[in-house]
Amino acid sequence: MKIAEGLSMLDMTMPLGYGMCPVLVHDDKDVILFDAGLPGQLDVIRHAMKKEGVEFEQLSAVLITHQDMDHIGSLSAISKALGDRVRVMAHRVEKPYIQFDCMPAKMSPQRLAEKAREYKEQTGVEMAVPVTLAGVRTLFADIMTKVDTALEDGQELPFCGGIVAIHTPGHTPGHCCYYLKRYKMLVAGDAMNGENGRLAGPNPTYTKDMAQARASLAKLAAYDIETVLCYHGGPVSGNIKDAIASLSK
Ligand SMILES: [Zn+2]
Repeated sequence: MKIAEGLSMLDMTMPLGYGMCPVLVHDDKDVILFDAGLPGQLDVIRHAMKKEGVEFEQLSAVLITHQDMDHIGSLSAISKALGDRVRVMAHRVEKPYIQFDCMPAKMSPQRLAEKAREYKEQTGVEMAVPVTLAGVRTLFADIMTKVDTALEDGQELPFCGGIVAIHTPGHTPGHCCYYLKRYKMLVAGDAMNGENGRLAGPNPTYTKDMAQARASLAKLAAYDIETVLCYHGGPVSGNIKDAIASLSK
């Protein structure tokens, strides 16, 4: 879905309507993808990019909003397919999670035990429960990805007219939104969602710290945002400043 010249959202809606739409921005020099879908979606991403007139091989960087599996699922596959040609970037606080250098921020012991059971079914190998960090690194060996560039809050990247990383903790500790200066648009990740064309706050079920998530939205008032690009729910525009201000209370 083309949003503006050089800016698209990839439609990766899953069966049962689970909607994901990573943002793709590109110009003569760079092709930047924001977030990387679920595990096993490399070909879906490849095709979705082609539909927008961009070859997967042109990809120069993947900017990650946060560690959740629907955002980093196919990151390592992209990284393996393109090698050094693509740089992976994320906020400094989120980097160790994406690399599985520490325990996932939101995965419950029950969920990890479930993963360990699945792993035993697939491999016959029994894992000690509760699952340790070493166990997590085994369970997610196909997912963990090296982050090449750790971003600071407010850091501006010289891509596609300027992209500012905004640390917006709450949904996860190192969640990061990205402000696209050329477009006056915000790549929201899961800091906000689109619901029937309107802006909604982060989903409380999946948000680690709601008070912190709301406080992070207040930070966005410093940016001249006309459109919010929601990973779940697509683009939302019209009276954005007021909408974000009311969600931050
Ligand atoms: Zn998500």
